Amino acid sequence: MKFVGPHVSASGGVENAPVNANAIGSKAFGLFTKNQRQWVSAPLTAKSIDLFKSSCDKFGYKPNQILPHDSYLINLGHPEKDGLDKSRGAFIDELQRCEQLGLDRLNFHPGSSLGKITDEQSLKLIAESINIALGKTKGVIAVIENTSGQGSNLGHRFEHLAFIIDLVEDKTRVGVCLDTCHTYTAGYDLKSPEGFKYVFDEFERIVGFRYLKGMHLNDSKKELGTRVDRHDSLGQGFLGIEPFRLIMNDNRFDGIPLILETPDESIWAEEIKLLYGLEKK
Ligand SMILES: [Zn+2]
Ligand SMILES: [Zn+2]
Repeated sequence: MKFVGPHVSASGGVENAPVNANAIGSKAFGLFTKNQRQWVSAPLTAKSIDLFKSSCDKFGYKPNQILPHDSYLINLGHPEKDGLDKSRGAFIDELQRCEQLGLDRLNFHPGSSLGKITDEQSLKLIAESINIALGKTKGVIAVIENTSGQGSNLGHRFEHLAFIIDLVEDKTRVGVCLDTCHTYTAGYDLKSPEGFKYVFDEFERIVGFRYLKGMHLNDSKKELGTRVDRHDSLGQGFLGIEPFRLIMNDNRFDGIPLILETPDESIWAEEIKLLYGLEKK
């Protein structure tokens, strides 16, 4: 079974996210559990947590249909101590929020060397950050998102994801999320059936589908290998509809949140219908 839905707004409180998702026919949703552009947010209230859980129950959203995303400020591979400590503290807080909400996974961008240390040094810091954070929390899987590789951002090669996973002590609590736009602009051509097969065979060989805990379904405003991250609505960018048809008919993508992060919120309901319409009955 495919679980499709957008990254919805949680403004006014996390409890609004499942309501917003259900209103447009989503079977999955993404959310920020705090303001993604601020270091510190007020703790979740008991009331908010209860309302979130009861709404998820009411609308039938299980943890494997929900993919929270952490703050954009966090850099777990930060080359400097202050930035690294601040990021690690904020990441632990993000994991704890998920734990409080009864969620089982947290999606995050691996981090950046900022050009001040080598990629390998930064990747090692990321793995160390994950180990520290997992040691201070329970039950939530750290889900590393692949990136376009803009600037000095890491995670644009499947090898980077595998390198980090290899250094994480508890393999049951680490996973990955592949963003179709990031995958494509990072240089993996999943546009055609042949390309799609090659890219996901590579993914299986280097990382492994057992680690796949979510997908972000986005078309791309930028061409293959540009290493620029600009999402587009489905079918309106360089990817077109074909890769999404392939995903919707491939059981390796069953049972995980498939999250739209497409720019035009007014057509999310249509995009969800479009995706389910691609499934062969
Ligand atoms: Zn992301
Ligand atoms: Zn994404």
